[in-house]
Amino acid sequence: MHQIVIVGGGAGGLELATRLGDTLGRTGRAGITLIEKARTHFWKPHLHEIAAGSMDLDVHALDYLAQSHWHHFRFRIGEMVGLDREQRLVHLAPYHDDEGTIVTEARSFHYDTLVLAVGSNTNDFGTPGVAENAIALETTEEADRFHRRLVNAFLRAHAQTTPLRPEQLQVAIVGAGATGVELAAELHNATRDLVSYNLDRIEPDKDIRLHLIEASPRILPALPERISDSAHRMLAQLKVQVHTGARVAEVLPQAVRLASGAIIPAELVVWAAGVKAPAFLSELGLETNAINQLVVTATLQTTRDERIFALGDCAAAPWLGHEGKWVPPRAQAAHQQSSHLVRELARQLQGKPLRPFHYRDFGSLVSLGEYSTVGNLMGNFVGGNMWVEGLFARWMYVSLYKMHQMALHGFWKMALNTVARFISRRTEPHVKLH
Ligand SMILES: Cc1cc2nc3c(=O)[nH]c(=O)nc-3n(C[C@H](O)[C@H](O)[C@H](O)COP(=O)(O)OP(=O)(O)OC[C@H]3O[C@@H](n4cnc5c(N)ncnc54)[C@H](O)[C@@H]3O)c2cc1C
Repeated sequence: MHQIVIVGGGAGGLELATRLGDTLGRTGRAGITLIEKARTHFWKPHLHEIAAGSMDLDVHALDYLAQSHWHHFRFRIGEMVGLDREQRLVHLAPYHDDEGTIVTEARSFHYDTLVLAVGSNTNDFGTPGVAENAIALETTEEADRFHRRLVNAFLRAHAQTTPLRPEQLQVAIVGAGATGVELAAELHNATRDLVSYNLDRIEPDKDIRLHLIEASPRILPALPERISDSAHRMLAQLKVQVHTGARVAEVLPQAVRLASGAIIPAELVVWAAGVKAPAFLSELGLETNAINQLVVTATLQTTRDERIFALGDCAAAPWLGHEGKWVPPRAQAAHQQSSHLVRELARQLQGKPLRPFHYRDFGSLVSLGEYSTVGNLMGNFVGGNMWVEGLFARWMYVSLYKMHQMALHGFWKMALNTVARFISRRTEPHVKLH
């Protein structure tokens, strides 16, 4: 039987494995295998909410084993570390548990078609001190670790009888792209919620400081200026200290040093500037670009091996109709590419030629937590470029995640989960307190 192996069960890869499992896998037309280094899946665009504590990981994480059982694909845990293109083998490193005990030995899986969907990591651009002193929001473990440090910082400050030190209850977020901006607004709200649970010796407006640091002249540099202006105004109202045109030269143990020499004291530093694909991709003998993305053709096949496809953040795919531009690293791109490959891999099995992928930009939405959502919807969606704000924008923003859940669970399970969450939220604290 034709073996399709997908590596990476994130926003794009898990949708692909699920939908191929439901079609080709269920009817025995192909064997579908998902290789993933984590045990559970969490949709990355919500990671900043785990960090702030406004979303509970246990409720939203999806178990790969159960998903594979329900959707007719095989799940194999492990980290891909190499590739043998002659023998068509994907090599995995041994998988260890939290105590360092080996769970699975190094092993290899055979493929006829391989899809790489291993996402991206943050890019520290070689800045000293980032690895040691800052947290990047790349995995649920990191987001959870940041949240525990945040709660501990508040418990410590509350119990302390001496005045707060300059860095205490100060958070510096480096990078004012969507992740940084959304995290700043989310943290503003979550820290006030946290204090409201009897941590009354902390005075939010006086004691808590949030800094958002961006090297470009404006926040959200990749998005239209109107979104950037509107988000900046909202953050200013919340008294988030926005530093634009400010390049970080070094992250110190309790501070950030700017290229101008200015020091911003901060107990917690989040690095949210730039992305790059995992380094191992550049060692597979396939064509990669300067940020390790696999260069693919319009059909999402890698340029040097037509059996190997790549999608999502780890792929540099041409944006057809936009000369010289690449499909941006976003959840909606990963979603569209996986839908495209569901159709095209089935066609390929029937001996039909592959059709090119056309990315449709539906616009950009930035969530400012409980306070607002701003963005624009693009021509493809509304027949023009439409500015959206407030409740409607919030609804559109939430619907991106709902589309992902629908691709994984189908409409009814997604709808029932939504109703169940709506009810259970009434009986829980609004922010995770541990
Ligand atoms: C905090 C945050 C907020 C964001 N907000 C938005 C937003 O509002 N809108 C938007 O469009 N996009 C947003 N993004 C970007 C979006 O999350 C990504 O574009 C999207 O997740 C890319 O999907 P993907 O499938 O390519 O990769 P991912 O979703 O990152 O999945 C990659 C998967 O591969 C696995 N993996 C990695 N390496 C290996 C390996 N060697 N072996 C096995 N498995 C491996 C990982 O564990 C992961 O499960 C946000 C990102 C972050 C971090």
